[in-house]
Amino acid sequence: ESRRAAAVVVTALEAIVSVIDVNAEELGRIDAIAGDGDHGIGMKRGSHAALTAARSSHSNGAGAQSVLASAADEWSNRAGGTSGAIWAVILRTVGERLGNTAPVTAAAVADGLDGASTAVMDFGKAKVGDKTMVDALVPFAETLRQRVGSGDTLAVAWSAASTAAQDAADGTADMMPGMGRARSHGDKALGVADPGAVSLAMIAAAIKD
Ligand code: ADP
Ligand code: MG
Ligand code: MG
Repeated sequence: ESRRAAAVVVTALEAIVSVIDVNAEELGRIDAIAGDGDHGIGMKRGSHAALTAARSSHSNGAGAQSVLASAADEWSNRAGGTSGAIWAVILRTVGERLGNTAPVTAAAVADGLDGASTAVMDFGKAKVGDKTMVDALVPFAETLRQRVGSGDTLAVAWSAASTAAQDAADGTADMMPGMGRARSHGDKALGVADPGAVSLAMIAAAIKD
């Protein structure tokens, strides 16, 4: 069971790497409007490093929590930037909730994302409405928790949650930045979605199957 959970984690990271590779240029373009233009390259570096670390940790027999912890460390080390540190918090927290020996259940995954959304807000101090990835992560985690709580399968709940994340990421276009680099660029960001929220929604959609 622990081997299977760790393999699921590696597969999810493969999906993240693929979707980021395809969209890195677009993410850089969005970040260049009100940020410093490095979101695509940062996500690419971080996700590739995380996958490499996860594969090696998995092949050494590690469980899901340890695999995610090594992926988290490498993501933040290699990505640099705010989003790298935040993705490390997400991966590490999900790992803590999954543990090293338990099966990957819908409840454990929902609990993991719930914990990640709280941990990201504690870490980065951004709240909903500040125009960051928090605006996509919170509705993602809330929808997942509600759907799993009402008995949906993980696949069905995940799909509803990723739709909520996508809608919320689109909605950040109408917000003024209250956090992060984009804050100092003020109204240049108006009309453009937050890059970190956009990439989070892309990742949610890529993992669903
Ligand atoms: P950097 O801003 O260091 O260049 P990136 O470009 O990779 O890092 O990531 C920018 C994204 O990070 C933003 O679009 C936003 O979603 C996210 N972000 C910035 N500050 C915070 C914060 N305090 N909490 C959560 N997310 C944040
Ligand atoms: Mg940037
Ligand atoms: Mg930067």
